[in-house]
Amino acid sequence: MELKPSRRSRLPYVIITIIIVALAILGGLAYFRPTVVETADRIRQLRAWFGNPAAHPEWQVQVGERCGAALMLMPTSGYIGFGWGDNFRPGHAHSGFDIFSPDGELNKTPVVAAYEGYLTRESDWRSAVIIRHPDFPTPRIPGLVFGEQIWTYYTHMASTDGETSFISEEFPAGTFEIFIEEGTLLGYQGNWSGNPVSPTGLHLHFTVVKSTLSGGYRNETDIENTYDPTAFLGVQPNEDGVPVCPSA
Ligand SMILES: [Zn+2]
Repeated sequence: MELKPSRRSRLPYVIITIIIVALAILGGLAYFRPTVVETADRIRQLRAWFGNPAAHPEWQVQVGERCGAALMLMPTSGYIGFGWGDNFRPGHAHSGFDIFSPDGELNKTPVVAAYEGYLTRESDWRSAVIIRHPDFPTPRIPGLVFGEQIWTYYTHMASTDGETSFISEEFPAGTFEIFIEEGTLLGYQGNWSGNPVSPTGLHLHFTVVKSTLSGGYRNETDIENTYDPTAFLGVQPNEDGVPVCPSA
């Protein structure tokens, strides 16, 4: 005889719980959906690019071009398929630009220094170089202090199995603090990921890296240790949302 009233009195709590859970799910969907849709769009565009790069000249940037009054040169040619802050892997924000070759072939698309500085290639680096830019001369980049030291990092310049480096012979492993001009050839795009069974797909990964207090470079895989390359390279999203040189 106690059951009936007790069941009835529980009903409002059950309904309230259901409403709260439903609102939480809807809220979660509203929060995450834009990123999911954006990532799906990017992946669709990337497939279209890999299928036929020549069909999308409007998505291309050109190696060595300067977009407007940008301080850095475009480090390679291709389609900027993933930008700074993109979430194409769950729980990971991308720390730079992935620029996908228009040539569809390893060791063909040149990679150049975006800005003059001092190049280092650590002794165990197969596919990457980093350039130190002391006293970077701009007050125009959000978050950057005038005269701050920054670095630019260029990677994936090796074969799928990592055995063949595509970095210019001028910069063998162990190169330390060699001064180079902007536009200097660094090597060619490849797809070495660090693991031969999962190549990255042919592209250059380019990041603008913050310095440590002692003047070294920070770990560029963490977005917190990098700047958005957008303002340095002067690109802007076109109507498809692809970053390109606005003058082009
Ligand atoms: Zn990348």
